[in-house]
Order: sequence, then structure tokens, then C-alpha cells
Amino acid sequence: MPLSAIRDYLLPKNPVTGNREIHLIPSFVEKFVGANSYAPLIEKSGGEIPSNHKNPKYRDYVRLVQEIGLTLACQAKRKNVEFEFKVIDSPKDNAWCLPGGKIGINVGLIEKMDAEKELFDLSQFSIQEKIAAVLSHEIIHADARHTGRSLEFRLFLIGIIKTAQLCTVHFFVNRSYNPKIEKANKEKDHSLATRLTQERDSKAKTIGFLFELASSWLINGLSLCNSRSNELESDKFGMRLIKDVSNTYSRSFTGNSPQAAIWLQHYFKKNHSHSHSNNFLKGLMNLFSTHPTSDERLKANIQTWADLQSGKL
Ligand SMILES: [Zn+2]
Repeated sequence: MPLSAIRDYLLPKNPVTGNREIHLIPSFVEKFVGANSYAPLIEKSGGEIPSNHKNPKYRDYVRLVQEIGLTLACQAKRKNVEFEFKVIDSPKDNAWCLPGGKIGINVGLIEKMDAEKELFDLSQFSIQEKIAAVLSHEIIHADARHTGRSLEFRLFLIGIIKTAQLCTVHFFVNRSYNPKIEKANKEKDHSLATRLTQERDSKAKTIGFLFELASSWLINGLSLCNSRSNELESDKFGMRLIKDVSNTYSRSFTGNSPQAAIWLQHYFKKNHSHSHSNNFLKGLMNLFSTHPTSDERLKANIQTWADLQSGKL
């Protein structure tokens, strides 16, 4: 077997980013989790808007989401993912993606994007382009295996921390106590052996407790960073996805359409920016957030647009 084939098997390339990564969670697990969580999450989020809804505007939104979602999904890299798109009956500005490509977008977000007439110094975008900015981001979450990768990242961290814990107990506790316990047992000094065993176990327990405490902080902190970088990755490759679609599907999209993702961040900044005047509080809130701020995303999307134009992406 050639070396490159072994490398591809052990460290396959991510279909979207092209980066090599450990691949522990198989696609069928992602699909199983997504398929089983889809209906309960739709229900919890407000229920599905049906395609025969009494409001013609809502019927139109459902049709557009299906049409745009499937058009974008055709250009996704993972061909074994069956993407599905539902409009959710909720006024909140939100959209989500479950592993395996099960996507939901709230009707409130579509309505408000439709009603938002501010251009933010950009050209005018149609509601199709605005919906594409949201759906392309969600499609990339599934296409780039973000849930699988997050789980793998957590497993990797847990593995490292557990190994470090075992090594610490072995080198700093067992290695000094075990010979003494053995000696006491040989000399039939059972009370000493019992006392030393209790001391050893109590020290190992304290080390275990400290590792547990530190690991939950470390894992949560690093997972937040990981989640923020996934959001930026979805924005970036979502814009590229719209570009790919605009090359093949010209009815609703043009070469300018990826800029709708810049418009979207202006929209979020206008409607959802934290109103804290206190910079410390603002920084603290950002630190514990799973999403980067609209400012960060806006800046990154402007850079992505420049990269798309120069052919760097
Ligand atoms: Zn996201």
C-alpha cells in the first residue's frame, strides 16, 4: 500500500478545509444523531412552518428555503450527507444545523431580513441572497464535520488529561509508596501497610480531584475557542459556497452574492450587539461566548470577500 494511501486513511483531509485531521466519528453516527434529534429540536424551537401554510408570505419563504438550500447543498463537498431544510415557527433571529445536515431557519429571521432595508454601504441584496448567507453557513457546519470534530477534539483532550493524571499518580505517588507498602507487607507489619495504602489512595484521590477540576475548565475553555473558530470557518467557506453556486445557478445569484454574508453581520451588529459600555464586561461576555462577535465576523467576512476576489480562496 503506498504511503500516501496510509496517510489518507489515518489522517484524511477535511472535505471543506483540506486540512488533515483525525477522523474518529464515522458519518453514520453523525447521521443517526442528526436524524433522531431533528424532530424533537424542531418541536422545541417552535414547530415547522408547513409548505401549505395559510399565510402566502410564509408559503413563499418555505419554497425559497427549500429551493436555495438544495441548490447550495448540491455544491457541498460531502456527497453522503442528505441535507434537509425546515422553516421554524419562531420569531427569534436564529438558524441551526444538526450533524448530518439537518437544518432549521426561523421564520422570524427571514421576515426581519426581508424587512431590513438598510444597505450598510453595500449593494442591494434579494431575500434569496440573504437566505443563502444564512443557509450556506449552516451547510458548512455539516460539510466540514464541525460536530464530529468538536467531539473528537473533546475526546482528544480527555485522553491527554487522563494520561497526564495517570503519569502524575504513578511517578509522584505510587513510585514512592508501593515499595514501602511491599516492604511492610513482607515484614508482616499490617498496620503500617494499611496506613501507607490509605495515604497513597488519599493522595491519588486528591490528584484526581485537582485534575478533574482543571480539566473541566480547560476542556470548556478550549471547546469555546474551538466553537468560535468553527463559526468563522463556516462564514468563510459559506461565502465560497455561494460563489460556487453563483457560477452555476445564475437566476438568483451573481458574483456579488457572497457579500450578503457581510450584509448579514451588519444586520446582526445593528440588532444584536451587546449594549455594554463597559469594555471589561464586554470582553468577559465575549470570552464565554460560543460565537465570535459580529464585529469579528464582519471583519473576517470582508477579508474573505477580498480573498474570493483575488482568487486566494
Ligand atoms: Zn454557526
